[in-house]
Amino acid sequence: MPDGEAGLRTQGSETAAAATDAATPELYKAREQIQPKLARGKFRVLKWGLLFATLGVYYLLPWVRWPRAAGEPDQAVLVDFEGGRFYFFFIEIWPDELYYVTGLLILAALALFLATALFGRIWCGYTCPQTVWTDLYIAVERLIEGDRNKRLKLNKSGWSAEKVAKKVSKHTLWLLIAAATGGAWIFYFHDAPTVFFQFFRGEAPGSAYLFAGLLTFTTYTLAGMMREQVCTYMCPWPRIQAALTDEETLQVTYKVDRGEPRGSHKKNESWEGRGDCIDCQGCVVVCPMGIDIRDGAQLECINCALCIDACDEVMKKIGRPTGLIAYDTDKNAELRQAGEKPKIKIIRARTVFYAAAFSIVSAIMLLTLGSRATLEVNVLRDRAPSFVTLSDGSVRNAYTVKIVNKDNAVRTFDISLAGGEGFTLEAVGLSSDGRSVAADVFGDDVRSIRVFVTAPADPVAPVSTPIAFVVSDVGSDESATNDSSFLRGRAK
Ligand code: SF4
Ligand code: SF4
Repeated sequence: MPDGEAGLRTQGSETAAAATDAATPELYKAREQIQPKLARGKFRVLKWGLLFATLGVYYLLPWVRWPRAAGEPDQAVLVDFEGGRFYFFFIEIWPDELYYVTGLLILAALALFLATALFGRIWCGYTCPQTVWTDLYIAVERLIEGDRNKRLKLNKSGWSAEKVAKKVSKHTLWLLIAAATGGAWIFYFHDAPTVFFQFFRGEAPGSAYLFAGLLTFTTYTLAGMMREQVCTYMCPWPRIQAALTDEETLQVTYKVDRGEPRGSHKKNESWEGRGDCIDCQGCVVVCPMGIDIRDGAQLECINCALCIDACDEVMKKIGRPTGLIAYDTDKNAELRQAGEKPKIKIIRARTVFYAAAFSIVSAIMLLTLGSRATLEVNVLRDRAPSFVTLSDGSVRNAYTVKIVNKDNAVRTFDISLAGGEGFTLEAVGLSSDGRSVAADVFGDDVRSIRVFVTAPADPVAPVSTPIAFVVSDVGSDESATNDSSFLRGRAK
């Protein structure tokens, strides 16, 4: 309730108002800060491994060098807006080939659909940037303020020199991580070592400061302050993923049939007539989403499996079989309740469909990449004037032949004319044998060449004659043809 509202009430109406408040359901639940306890077990180890691997790739990839032709950037992964290229190790994508990037995005989406159909929100639990950075921020918090109980105690305690020191250290480290994250982002769009020094000398482009600042702010806010609220309230994926899973999807599940009836258990007490859950809350206190997996499938659950680790640890201590919480399917829960043997079914209509779609798109991508042309030719005929009649009656048309050399090496191309009997071809600055010229084009470059085609005087020649420019690589059998036309005036 807003603070001011209470002040407006009269003394006599307070009791009635309090009764009304109690009866009215709250529209917004106040956030309870979650302080997850450190889980220990195989899934926690797997999550540490993926955390270091994904963060390592993100922070270090822009520093990896890759040898290319002289004049080209030697950064392995670079989105070069200025040069109009995307470099990814040996692959170089030109602006007119952005469909490869679209293809990669489609592949990533299909892989995510397949993984979700098989293992539920595995992306959310292990590799989503929000999960990874939040995990890192919680690790820093734990390092400075201690594990869950110490953090809860510290937060409840009054301000002291120790508390101030711990809070300042934590937020300083969080900010440093956020700044490193924002800084690493801009390295993907500029030569990393160059922009690194430019940044601190105040010489980097304005966009570099803008995006570094933006990512510093979002990392600190989303991973440090908002944490699980991003997944629960801001991310659309939990809503979408429900359409991708079915009763055979493996999800982190509390085995009700085995755990209930739950209750505390004393050493040497019989396990007869009761479940294995000793209601110790171990699975609840490690959950980064602050939920109780024993309440069943919930929108908030990111399938991180930390509750599996926590419960397995408890089961080992009390001498019961592990796996009370485990990756399991809704179907298996039904089968167990019916006394039947549970089974995992990986091959299902939807998994086959996603796998087939992934394979088909991959094959198309590989085929097009494998047969990718490294030569492109565009010819533009001059329109003003569209032809010139020379003193001897012959007619000349001018063209601009644009040769795109997508190879890293310099190549020599032969430009020749197809069609147009008796026509001759010359180019500005290049020697011609009458029907063809040779031109060098630098690796990974575009060269525009002014070309003149001349037709002998012919009073009965048509107004337009179809011709073609054939551009062939002298050192290989690669060639490209561009159709055009030759124009002249109508005979009087
Ligand atoms: S319930 Fe378990 S799997 Fe789900 S978010 Fe919490 S700890 Fe992770
Ligand atoms: S950790 Fe296991 S035993 Fe403890 S409350 Fe959770 S399900 Fe029950």
